[in-house]
Amino acid sequence: MQFSLLFPNNVHMNSNLKASGFSGLGLIAPLMRAVEEKGYETPSPIQEEAIPAVLGGRDVMAAAQTGTGKTAGFTLPILQLLHEAGRAPGKFRPLRALIVTPTRELAAQVEASVKTYGEYLPLRSAVVFGGVKINPQINTLRNGVDILVATPGRLLDLHQQGIVSFQELEILVLDEADRMLDMGFIHDIRKILALLPPQRQNLLFSATFSSEIRALAKGLVNSPLEISVTPPNSTVDTVSQTVLPVDKRRKADLLIHLIKERQWHQVLVFTRTKHGANRLAQKLEKSGIESAAIHGNKSQNARTRALAGFKSNQLQVLVATDIAARGLDINQLPQVVNFDLPNVEEDYVHRIGRTGRAGAQGKALSLVCLEESKLLRNIERFIHRNIDVEQIPGFEPMDPPSSLQEEGPRRSAPMPRGNGRRQGGQGRGRNPGSTSRSHRGGQASSGGSNRSRNSRGSHRR
Ligand code: AMP
Repeated sequence: MQFSLLFPNNVHMNSNLKASGFSGLGLIAPLMRAVEEKGYETPSPIQEEAIPAVLGGRDVMAAAQTGTGKTAGFTLPILQLLHEAGRAPGKFRPLRALIVTPTRELAAQVEASVKTYGEYLPLRSAVVFGGVKINPQINTLRNGVDILVATPGRLLDLHQQGIVSFQELEILVLDEADRMLDMGFIHDIRKILALLPPQRQNLLFSATFSSEIRALAKGLVNSPLEISVTPPNSTVDTVSQTVLPVDKRRKADLLIHLIKERQWHQVLVFTRTKHGANRLAQKLEKSGIESAAIHGNKSQNARTRALAGFKSNQLQVLVATDIAARGLDINQLPQVVNFDLPNVEEDYVHRIGRTGRAGAQGKALSLVCLEESKLLRNIERFIHRNIDVEQIPGFEPMDPPSSLQEEGPRRSAPMPRGNGRRQGGQGRGRNPGSTSRSHRGGQASSGGSNRSRNSRGSHRR
């Protein structure tokens, strides 16, 4: 695309700033100062494309996952647009920019970014989400805010109570729109859209552009700039991925062994179920490993506390379900473990995207048992590559995952029948010693994603 056509004329730059890579994007000095203080030196690809486009007033539809720097990509230009439009002085601030996110954690993180980047601008922001008392939120909104970050349900509640008005809204952001649809928010989103003034700038961010997202976009964005920074079904290149074959009943022991032996100080562990998350966190605690679980059944305060403890290194391990962990931004997270493989292949990509962020090297280990052979094959097919296998000595499975035993094309490995026990077949993963092998397939393609959302039983996990 032609950036020069979208550049606003009022480019403000401060050549003394170190964040010089940002200087061509047209950001004003107070924003450049905040970017500099964050330590960013060069804009990420999404920022390079989105910032000038948003400043130029365009609608944007971006395929970008968490970890790409998308939050700054929309927050910085929104702050600038609101600041430059100016407001008549007065106590009450009408809401001018609304950012809707699927989860409470993401909402809190986005609003923290708004505050960070907007530190040197006289704009006001707030965050509202369900699961906590509404009254403090009402008090915060009483004098009005310029920017509101919200989850859909609570936003509608506050609007119904007359606390939030959309009359002067200029900019709407739907962040992680695909996840909003997955979580069943489509009706709420449509209700919100119907309440907004028709003349506005719309920014739509989604990990993938599925047909549902395109259908949603149709009535939402006007001749948008389409940006795609990561192929939707690729895994981040900076993450090294490894499968560790292990029997199901020995997974917790293996995890404890790894945490202790490899001296992991901060590891995010994914389980498929809330119950599994609780059970694992308790087991880890019993082994003297500081840990906590976060999932949809936990109160918001418990989730916030656990996340804060994890971020500040007081908790060594955070055990999370997919939805609870969605959008978590933990700087430089070195290690992710899939205690269970996810049922939905795309969640694997989201999970491992929690590490190796913003160019840092990360590691993702998956503990895989026999019952998960098929899930593993589906994931490998989805990401268009085979994942390296490492056998941890002392944890050789009685029942190796079937696909790991095959020398040939693993794609066609049959699922085991009956109890699945295999006699004598020493799979490569069963050699003594810590062995590893690599079957590097081709790079992930940028093809469309075959989303298997229908297989997702419940929205809340
Ligand atoms: P996001 O994709 O918005 O969740 O951002 C992922 C992480 O990248 C966050 O921790 C940001 O602070 C960080 N980040 C965003 N932009 C940049 C940049 N230009 N340079 C370095 N880090 C960045």
